[in-house]
Amino acid sequence: MSTGELSFYQSVQRNFDKAAAHTDLHKGLLEQIKVCNAVYSMRFPVKIGNEYQVIEAYRVQHSQHRLPTKGGIRYSLEVNQDEVMALAALMTYKCAIVDVPFGGAKGGVRINPKAYSTKQLESITRRYAAELIRKNFIGPGIDVPAPDYGTGGREMAWILDTYISFNHGDIDGAACVTGKPVSQNGIRGREEATGRGVYYGLKEAVSYKDDMSRIGLTTGMAGKTMVIQGLGNVGSYTGLICQNEGDAKIIAVSEFEGAIHSEKGINIAELIKYRKETGSILGFPGTKKMKDRAAALELPCDILVPAALENQIHVRNAANIQAKIVAEAANGPVSSEGEDILLKKGVLIIPDMFINAGGVTVSYFEWLKNLSHMRFGRMEKRFNQQTYENILNLVVKLTGKTLGDKERLFVARGADEIDLVRSGLEETMVSAYQQIREVYKRKKKITDLRTAAFVCALDKIAADYVSRGIFP
Ligand code: NAD
Repeated sequence: MSTGELSFYQSVQRNFDKAAAHTDLHKGLLEQIKVCNAVYSMRFPVKIGNEYQVIEAYRVQHSQHRLPTKGGIRYSLEVNQDEVMALAALMTYKCAIVDVPFGGAKGGVRINPKAYSTKQLESITRRYAAELIRKNFIGPGIDVPAPDYGTGGREMAWILDTYISFNHGDIDGAACVTGKPVSQNGIRGREEATGRGVYYGLKEAVSYKDDMSRIGLTTGMAGKTMVIQGLGNVGSYTGLICQNEGDAKIIAVSEFEGAIHSEKGINIAELIKYRKETGSILGFPGTKKMKDRAAALELPCDILVPAALENQIHVRNAANIQAKIVAEAANGPVSSEGEDILLKKGVLIIPDMFINAGGVTVSYFEWLKNLSHMRFGRMEKRFNQQTYENILNLVVKLTGKTLGDKERLFVARGADEIDLVRSGLEETMVSAYQQIREVYKRKKKITDLRTAAFVCALDKIAADYVSRGIFP
C-alpha cells in the first residue's frame, strides 16, 4: 500500500498471529488454518454496448476444512486479490465463531456497479457464475456465495438461474447461493440479517455492567448515541433496528456524498426514504452537513458503526476517534495498526468476525431451508397455536376470568418463518458473544475482544482437523 500501512490481508494475518500466540496449537496446524486453500483469479469478456470489456474477478476459498465454503460476492472498483483473500479468511473465522458449519470463501468482481445498466450487470453476473461453474467453484456442497458490498438479492437470483441452467435436475440446486429473494427460494429475514445481528450483538455486549463501567457507560441500548458510516444494506438495517427496537439515538450518518449530524437524533426510516427520493443524505431536514464524510467518524458518541468498507479507521485518524465502542459492521474497518491506537485509548472494539456474522448465520438457515425443501414453521405453527389455545382455555375455565382477543393473540401464536429466523439469529449472536467474552475474561493475557474471538475460532477449527486425524 502506498501509505506504508499493512494491506488488508496482512492486517488479518497479523491479527491471526497475535491470537495464535495465545493457543498451544501445533505450528503446522496453525499454518494450515492461516493460508488460503484455493485462489481463483479470472478474466472474462463481456459485451458492453458495442465494445467488449475484460472483467477482472476472483473467488477465494480460504478454508475447506468444512464444506461447503461460504462467503459473499462483492462488486467494487476496489476489489483486488489481496482484499478477497482477506475477506475469505475472515469468513472462515466468522463461521467458526457462530457455529455455522462452513469453511470461509469470498468473491469479488472489479466493477463499479453504478456504471452499468441492469441488463449489463446481469450479463456480468451470469458470466461470472458460469466461470465459477466451469471451475467447480460453486455448488450446494462445494461453495455457496451470498450478497456483499454492491450486490443483493437480484444478483443472487441471476446466479441461481445460471447454476440451475447448467445443472438441470439437481434437486438441491437452490442451495447453491443464499441471500436470494424470498420468491426465488430465499428466506424471510435474510436481507435484514446482518444489521439485525449487529443489534443483537450490541445489545448483549452492552448488557454487562462491569464491561460498560470500564468505558464509562451504563448498560442497555436505550439512549446510546450512535454514528453510522454507510447506509447500504448493513448500515441501514443496523440503524433502523437499533433505533426502533433498541431506542438508540443516531446522531450522525456518513455516506458516499458526505455526512450529516444532529444532536437531537436522526430518524433513519425517514432518512432512507429521503435518500431514495433525492439521491443523497445531504439536506435532510433538521441535520447539519459535516466538513466531509470522514468527519462523522470522529464525533464523540457511545457507539461508532463503520458499515461501509475496510480500512476506514487507520493510523492517520485512530487517535481522533472519540467513540467508546466501535462495532465493526463492515469487514476490516479498523486496520491492525489503527486498532493498536484505539485499544490504547480504551475503546471497546467489537470485532467484525463476530458482530457482522448475522448475514452468514441466516444464510445458513436459508441453505438448510433449501436442502429440506420446506419453509421453517410449516409443520409446527398450527399445532403450537392450538396447544397454546388449549392452555389458555384451561386457564380461563379454572380461573373464571376472561381474555380479550388481543391478549389471546399475543399468547396463542405459532411461530412463522421470520420469528424462527430472528430467534435463531438472536440465540446465535448471544451465545457467540458469551463464548468470546468467556475467553476474554479467562485468558488474562488477552486484552481485546478480537484476539479472544480469534482464539475461539482457532480452537474450533483445530478441533475439526484433529478429529479427522489430520493433525495430532
Ligand atoms: P452496500 O453496498 O449495501 O452498502 C455500503 C454503503 O457504504 C453504500 O451505500 C456506499 O455508498 C457506502 N460507502 C462506501 N464508501 C463509503 C465511505 N467512504 N463513507 C461512507 N459511506 C460509504 O454494502 P453492504 O452489503 O451493506 O456491506 C457493507 C460492509 O458490510 C462491507 O464491508 C461488507 O463486507 C460487510 N458485510 C456485509 C454483509 C451483508 O450481508 N451484506 C454481511 C457481513 C458483512
